[in-house]
Amino acid sequence: MKLTHRVSQVPASITLAVTAKAKAMKAEGIDICSFSAGEPDFDTPAHIKEAAKKALDEGKTKYGPAAGEPRLRQAIAKKLVTENQLNYQSENVIVTNGGKHSLFNIILTLIEPGDEVIIPSPYWLSYPEMVKLAGGTPVLVSTTQATGYKITPSQLRESITPQTKLFILNSPSNPTGSVYTPEELAALAEVIVASDIMVISDEIYEKILYDGAKHVSIGSLNPEIFSRTIVSSGFAKGFSMTGWRVGYAAGPIELIKGMTILQGHSTSNVCTFAQHGAIAALEGPQDCLQVMFDAFTARRVAMLEAVQAIPGLTCSKPDGAFYLFIDISKTGMNSLDFCNALLEEKQVAIIPGIAFGTDECIRLSYATDMTSIEKGMERLSQFVASIK
Ligand code: GLU
Repeated sequence: MKLTHRVSQVPASITLAVTAKAKAMKAEGIDICSFSAGEPDFDTPAHIKEAAKKALDEGKTKYGPAAGEPRLRQAIAKKLVTENQLNYQSENVIVTNGGKHSLFNIILTLIEPGDEVIIPSPYWLSYPEMVKLAGGTPVLVSTTQATGYKITPSQLRESITPQTKLFILNSPSNPTGSVYTPEELAALAEVIVASDIMVISDEIYEKILYDGAKHVSIGSLNPEIFSRTIVSSGFAKGFSMTGWRVGYAAGPIELIKGMTILQGHSTSNVCTFAQHGAIAALEGPQDCLQVMFDAFTARRVAMLEAVQAIPGLTCSKPDGAFYLFIDISKTGMNSLDFCNALLEEKQVAIIPGIAFGTDECIRLSYATDMTSIEKGMERLSQFVASIK
């Protein structure tokens, strides 16, 4: 069968493929340590599950509006106003099937064939593929460990052409854990406004910050950047709701209307009772977040210390999210060979940096239990020591 160029030009998602392989190996009884997908190991907090069960029992099992349950859109808008200083109303918000779907629909609604989209590299692996699926051209801008893997204002300015439509900013970042400071955001905002392009601010890791790092939404800086910002986020990472598939986008009403048309002809509404769970996540007690966050903080320290003790591996301290992005160049191996051999020989699943645009690195997620971290780090250490 001949598939369209649209689909055949993009590879499968490596994060999903490695994660599925690790889960299948575990189901076969293999003692595997998986640091693959960024998927918190915690159960979804009980009050969120109760709200979804109640919605089911009350018969909230029918079609709903394509843009989302009005109460959820309102709760999201309220959160964006109070927590992020973004002046949105319900009409500025659309509920999507997870953060990934939100990003895909924003890009499909804004990007025409020939349009360029600037993406700092290393990047989350689906950004460039989403742009290609929309017919656009990803423009990858290399960043290094020396600049904390952050794009500079001059790099952004130099990458903008008459075809540039969009810039994708992800802070806190997957895979590097970088968090942009308010000053850095202000300098980028100046370039965005002067060039009259739009920015997607992917804020899915906004609640996972360390060592005093603060999350600021670029759209909150001034009215000019606000009108050019589209926020994308979801409930998966912060509330441990990965399988629920509830995310959202917020931005100019015209864009949200366009995305609603797209959803009206593709997915329709997000699962109705899952949306009721999301309402409880926003309106219910927030102390569950602290419990998960405290665990991430301890795991980050444990994993970082273990990696720093392995000769040949270097890693900067991430300020946010739950990944370590580790430089393996001193081992002489490329990231794909490294990850394949580690899985084969030591049953440790991690993601090769090539998936994020950097073959010299590997990504480890520490959104998993401490026992797996201790065991997996010991195996990683033995593996690196065995490389000739
Ligand atoms: N975003 C997560 C990750 O990077 C989940 C997997 C995916 O959707 O790619 O691990």
